[in-house]
Amino acid sequence: MSKIQVAIIGAGPSGLLLSQLLRLQGIESIVLERQTREYVEGRIRAGLLEWSTVDLLNEARVGARMMREGLAHDGLELAFDGRTHRIDLKKLTGHRMMVYGQTEVQKDLGDAHTASGAQIIWEAGNVAIHDITSHRPRVTYTRGAINHEIDCDFIAGCDGFHGISRQSIPKEYVTLHERTYPFGWIGIMANVPPVAGELIYVNHPRGFALCSMRSKSRSRYYLQCSLDDDIANWPDDRFWDELRGRLPNEHAGALITGPSIEKSIAPLRSFVAEPMRFGQLFLVGDAAHILPPTGAKGLNLAAADVRLLSEAILEYYRGGSETLLNDYSKQALARVWKATRFSWWFTALMHKFSDETFAHRIQLAELEYIAGSAAAAESFAENYVGLNFAQRIPRPQGLRLKSSI
Ligand SMILES: Cc1cc2nc3c(=O)[nH]c(=O)nc-3n(C[C@H](O)[C@H](O)[C@H](O)COP(=O)(O)OP(=O)(O)OC[C@H]3O[C@@H](n4cnc5c(N)ncnc54)[C@H](O)[C@@H]3O)c2cc1C
Repeated sequence: MSKIQVAIIGAGPSGLLLSQLLRLQGIESIVLERQTREYVEGRIRAGLLEWSTVDLLNEARVGARMMREGLAHDGLELAFDGRTHRIDLKKLTGHRMMVYGQTEVQKDLGDAHTASGAQIIWEAGNVAIHDITSHRPRVTYTRGAINHEIDCDFIAGCDGFHGISRQSIPKEYVTLHERTYPFGWIGIMANVPPVAGELIYVNHPRGFALCSMRSKSRSRYYLQCSLDDDIANWPDDRFWDELRGRLPNEHAGALITGPSIEKSIAPLRSFVAEPMRFGQLFLVGDAAHILPPTGAKGLNLAAADVRLLSEAILEYYRGGSETLLNDYSKQALARVWKATRFSWWFTALMHKFSDETFAHRIQLAELEYIAGSAAAAESFAENYVGLNFAQRIPRPQGLRLKSSI
């Protein structure tokens, strides 16, 4: 049996960022990941980072390429009723957003781990958690035909929505809150210049559309589709025609199309598990919460959890206090529920739920309100850039990592 301070399950952005921050503070961890590194780095997911996430990646010393290659955005466009309205995020909140793909974040974290010789076990099978409520929990796994056992102080469950960490908590100790939505998103990636310099969120009678990007030459577009839709029903030409049809004229005419390099359909879901701690097991990121991607909050919430947990573990090893560890779930959930509310609200505002004209007219009235009221625009903008900028609960002096959040 080997011994380590922190065992981390999952090498997604949460797991690798946590292990990197702990390593920089001299705290030893091991990351157990069931997939290969190539598979994890190839998953196309998030692309929009709040500035608090940018700060954290820089503090973790994995932000250099992001600062060179990422695209900082000062605003976004809301399109509805055949017109567009720009939300000036920078002017309204003082904060920007960063376009930088999760695939790139994942690669930067992976490279930092390789360079430092940090311990990651790729293709770890049958990962299981034991004795969570004792002060010496254990994690077991298999690699090849060999069984391994790790003795640790803490376990970080960073293994996403389908992982084993949350499922290891007895059902009577965790409450699951869930909302599913009656539609999905079909997304494509294409090596074509984006239709506009900033993201465009479209409310259209035929359904939602989102124009996003990964760089100045790579676009990411999404369309609301039905839940039981099949990717085979969406040849590229159909996707481009439908997207053009949902865009206001000023953008439809500028749309540059090309062959897709990735195409997928994803369901939308809101999900929160609480509490986010059970004994010595701490849930982090998608293991504890999932949001519809409309608000671009998933990866950012995961990073915010990592910040809280890394500070709490640091406090424990520096001074023996468990105050922040005991506070972790409450502090994380305070932010999680606000982001969950915003993502749910923004999803409801922008998508077509039925053919009912009343519902669509109410959506248009609310969009008009955001376009016409400084207070409404500010409320939207501060949620979009991340409420943690405004509402961070103060930390004891000396424990905060450098960032301003
Ligand atoms: C299509 C799409 C678009 C998105 N867009 C955005 C966006 O624009 N902005 C945003 O902020 N967020 C977005 N998200 C959400 C974001 O991708 C997630 O919130 C983020 O990946 C969470 O990171 P994580 O490390 O917590 O979980 P994951 O990325 O899911 O990583 C969990 C890891 O644990 C591993 N694992 C699972 N089970 C086990 C096991 N039993 N043993 C060992 N390892 C295991 C998995 O293989 C995986 O590598 C999007 C998500 C999707 C699907």
